[in-house]
Amino acid sequence: MDFNKEQNIIGIRVLNDNVIWLWEKDKSVVVIDPALSQPVIDYLKANCLKLKAILQTHHHSDHIGGTKELLKEWPNIKVIASVKEKDRIPFQNLSVKDGDKFKILDEEVEVIEVIGHTKSHLAFYINNVSPVLFVGDTLFSAGCGRIFEGTHQQMYNSLQKIKSLPKNTLIYCAHEYTKSNLIWALNIEPENHNIKKKLIEVERKIALNELTIPFLLQEEMEINLFLRADNLKGFSYLRANKDLWV
Ligand SMILES: [Zn+2]
Repeated sequence: MDFNKEQNIIGIRVLNDNVIWLWEKDKSVVVIDPALSQPVIDYLKANCLKLKAILQTHHHSDHIGGTKELLKEWPNIKVIASVKEKDRIPFQNLSVKDGDKFKILDEEVEVIEVIGHTKSHLAFYINNVSPVLFVGDTLFSAGCGRIFEGTHQQMYNSLQKIKSLPKNTLIYCAHEYTKSNLIWALNIEPENHNIKKKLIEVERKIALNELTIPFLLQEEMEINLFLRADNLKGFSYLRANKDLWV
């Protein structure tokens, strides 16, 4: 079965640059990182959809902010989050850890812990013919998450985990940062034709008011300098450089 033909993943833009992902199948929906509740409630009601579960990648308020209100509307849903974050992700009722698998919308979802941005950050992987990864704030197109709580080594290791997934994995991150990431990457590698090409494509999508995500792991391997770094030292140099870049 081709995941993307059978099922839908819809992005709702909220706040400055967040994207809330809604994964829909047969009128049931799983929402990933609801920063806000109302846009999700409005969309589901307008389309006669029923919420089944919330996946939380990490505890930041622009990822869990809408969960409490969604639970008021749909009290019996599953809220799936890291067992290490019971204090900071308070409404979880299915606590998971690295390597756990659970079934939702008839699909098996694997939990991959990707520490770095926060001390326990999860990614959710659907190992289908067309694999999908909900990656939160760990990897962005042409960028990666800021390291707030983990170490550079942990973030580097997390990116290696993502790199080991099938190259046709479609990656859904939680922020629309692609254009500014590409401009930074061109500053580091001014002659990189893949990055230049991608920037033109992204500018075209933005002009049409389209999202620039999701993105394919295979394509990202050509333009994402963090994924391309072949050792910790190289990765750390890039991360420090990006942290200072305005
Ligand atoms: Zn975050």
